[in-house]
Amino acid sequence: RQLANKIAAGEVVERPASVVKELVENAIDAGATEITVKVKEAGLVSIGVTDNGSGILEEDIPLAFGRHATSKIHNNHDLFHIRTLGFRGEALASITSVSRVTLKTCADNAVGHLVKIENSDMIEKTLTRAKKGTEVLVEDLFYNTPARLKYVKSLHTELGKITDIMNRFAMSHTHIRFKLESDDKVLLQTTGSGRLNEVMAQVYGMTIARDLIAINGQTGDYEVTGEIARPEHTRANRHYMSLFINGRYIKNFVLTKAILEGYHTLLPIGRYPVVAIDIKMDPGLVDVNVHPTKQEVRLSKEPELMELITRLIKEALLGQSL
Ligand code: ADP
Ligand code: MG
Repeated sequence: RQLANKIAAGEVVERPASVVKELVENAIDAGATEITVKVKEAGLVSIGVTDNGSGILEEDIPLAFGRHATSKIHNNHDLFHIRTLGFRGEALASITSVSRVTLKTCADNAVGHLVKIENSDMIEKTLTRAKKGTEVLVEDLFYNTPARLKYVKSLHTELGKITDIMNRFAMSHTHIRFKLESDDKVLLQTTGSGRLNEVMAQVYGMTIARDLIAINGQTGDYEVTGEIARPEHTRANRHYMSLFINGRYIKNFVLTKAILEGYHTLLPIGRYPVVAIDIKMDPGLVDVNVHPTKQEVRLSKEPELMELITRLIKEALLGQSL
């Protein structure tokens, strides 16, 4: 079992930022309204994620670390109608196989539990005082997989990846208060106001009224909302473009192309927008089960969505309906 966990860990946990992603997704799935992430040395020394979500019941704690143990899917129908960010039940199992994990959780304000897991085994379990919610502390990441440690780039690069992921969570979950601290410096702090323009202004150092334009439109199957920065904020690469489907950050060539098609009717090829778009759709129209990291998706009715996106981008930049 430990070997299986380590092999699978390679897919889900390739770097500190992947740990941050999986832990924050769990916090979001647990209904948290406040999530704090603290990293030391870009996560290689430690990653701590604290949430005020549902907590984990005592009897479910061992399950949470088991491979393919998920509380989020109960049947085949659920698998094709994913509404949570996690659903494979392998993240915690993978993380505990390549680091030392301490979990503190409290499900109902009554009694808290603290457990330590090493090499996928629970080595300590005690009662503790805790507020409702969960705190996961991951230490010494990859201490037992030196080969993986070698693939980790500079601390600067890794911290950049962590910041990117947190920025995108803040953009896709504007009602959650996020905080990211790196070696005691605050890198991101949001208010949970529910306003995307406020989050983007903060992330990209812009002014809401002057720099950002709202995007909003729908067809029968899709509802698209977002914000795009005014043309003068054009960038030299596509790093500042973020796509979300039902709140999940995704990468999709076709939808990116649709944004750029709208953008490039007005701006030169080779320039890219600062933009974030969230697409709400029936989860049955999108397959997120393509890859373990769940970043690639397959869509039904792609052309309808592409047209809508291209038109909305043009309208936003021209300031008129087309
Ligand atoms: P998945 O998210 O795919 O279900 P994970 O390995 O990420 O799998 O988590 C396993 C299980 O542990 C989850 O299904 C959930 O029940 C529980 N869990 C993990 N993190 C949290 C958290 N922060 N709050 C509440 N429950 C959690
Ligand atoms: Mg998960």
